[in-house]
Amino acid sequence: MKEHFIIALDGHSSTGKSSLAKKIAKTFSILHIDSGALYRGVALYLYKMGQIQLLGEEKLKDVLPKIKLEFVRNGNQSLLYLNDEVAEKEIRSLQISQLVSNVAKDENIRDYLLDIQREFAKGNSVIMDGRDIGTVVFPQADLKIFLTASAEIRAERRHKEMLETGEEVSFQEVLDNVNQRDYADTHREISPLKKADDAIELDNSLLSEEQTFQEVVKLLQQKGLI
Ligand code: C5P
Repeated sequence: MKEHFIIALDGHSSTGKSSLAKKIAKTFSILHIDSGALYRGVALYLYKMGQIQLLGEEKLKDVLPKIKLEFVRNGNQSLLYLNDEVAEKEIRSLQISQLVSNVAKDENIRDYLLDIQREFAKGNSVIMDGRDIGTVVFPQADLKIFLTASAEIRAERRHKEMLETGEEVSFQEVLDNVNQRDYADTHREISPLKKADDAIELDNSLLSEEQTFQEVVKLLQQKGLI
């Protein structure tokens, strides 16, 4: 096993990146960073403070240092804390899902989170999931995976998850949100979602979570990382 390695796991929303990353992290005792949770945390802060209108404004630079983002372990889980309060559930609400792609377009926010993401990885083996991890955050990553699946299948998975957490939302609303986020993520100017040239594409439309996990384990073995 290589002493320190970085796995960049990018792809479309609701492809199961986070669950997959968690499982890899747990199995191989490495750190998992969910970069989407950081963008969601910023979105939640701006929303709660009534400062969403600052997006794209220079004034936002004064606000960003007030946003403290941390991952705190709770048993097997790693929970996002926003300014010392657990924010894990709130950041996953439909409201924040609808705001977050706009938040992620802001250059100052991307710059702010870039440093934070690199800082998390210092001295650790890490699997980080997101949209631009293999292209921008860690272009030198040891393994880059680009995860995708059809929009309908992704919306079905997301819908199920939301119903389970008690959020009443229709399938159509979730599908619309998946499509809107795909569009916004692939068309934004800065760090758009795209497969890195050296990333391995994995379409898991027809794969179970376990099968997807096994595919990644094979890739890790082939690269000599485990
Ligand atoms: O991964 P998740 O769906 O939670 O991410 C929320 C949003 O954050 C994405 O729709 C995307 O707009 C943004 N994001 C990003 N770059 C990342 C991770 C997430 O732009 N590395």
